Amino acid sequence: MKLTGSQILLSFSLFLFTSALIAQQPIKVKAKSGDGIHRILKQHQMDTEEYYHEFIRLNKTKLIKGNLLFIGRTYILPQKNANTGTNYYAIFGEKYGHVKNVDNSLQGAVYYLVSGHGGPDPGAVGKRDGHLLTEDEYAYDISLRLAVELIKQGAIVYIIVRDPDDGIRDDAFLKNDKHETVWKDKEIPLNINKKLRQRTQVVNQLYRKNRGQYQRLIVIHIDSRSKGERVDVFGYYNSKSKSGKIFTERLISALKLNYKKYQPKRLFGGITNNRDGLYMLKYTHPVTSYLELGNIQNAKDQVRFTKSENRQALAEWLAEGCISDFDQ
Ligand SMILES: [Zn+2]
Repeated sequence: MKLTGSQILLSFSLFLFTSALIAQQPIKVKAKSGDGIHRILKQHQMDTEEYYHEFIRLNKTKLIKGNLLFIGRTYILPQKNANTGTNYYAIFGEKYGHVKNVDNSLQGAVYYLVSGHGGPDPGAVGKRDGHLLTEDEYAYDISLRLAVELIKQGAIVYIIVRDPDDGIRDDAFLKNDKHETVWKDKEIPLNINKKLRQRTQVVNQLYRKNRGQYQRLIVIHIDSRSKGERVDVFGYYNSKSKSGKIFTERLISALKLNYKKYQPKRLFGGITNNRDGLYMLKYTHPVTSYLELGNIQNAKDQVRFTKSENRQALAEWLAEGCISDFDQ
């Protein structure tokens, strides 16, 4: 088969995408008898002064008092010069595909981002200025923007619901299409139970693969049920998951804090609650936060989603919440 120019370009960017992911996979080492932090760093030609603190930060839950190691446990090595690289991710599109590592504050963290609906299911549909606003496209755009913010901080991010040709878009009206897939090329079924089972299985498989690391799943929807009270954002967690509750609270309070800072006159209402009946909270294995960032059918809420600056702000603020959770 003769490759055309565009096919070559496509496989080239796919290669870049894969290699970028591999480059970010942290190296893990199993502590042997007699090992200490200094010894392990030295064995990997790492400057002990430069990386000692970083090693402790990455492995703080796995250290014995006095920063000793458990024999037989696996520890994450800090990455050398991890904050200098720029990688290209085709999934974000040409304009936003080049992502520069700015910091390592999320190094060692793994995120799964699931934007609601997709494929044959557009989710909730709103109308504005003669355009149809479909929930899945707006939730997807925010999830991509969030992914960029997390990767910038050194996190590993799996974009579970994906679209091969919609990168991050700055338009007010995002065209609806039906060819989203689930990590990586699985067709999304129409049947709601099959659809939810498919993404859950994918997340749980990846979760097993990344066992031992800090892992979080964020589900993003824009179809909160209208309430009499003025609530902007709902954050749900599984009542059996203490970490899920804390994570969700941190995401919501990051939004609250920023609204207070940038729109002090606006009263922002955010609610966190348990909602065990939700499939994505019940059957997924990572610590999960299920967010309803508003309702695409609500005229007031629509402004929050049609302006690309607002989608970007939401993504950045959620990333702040992620950092505060990982830091604790
Ligand atoms: Zn939804």
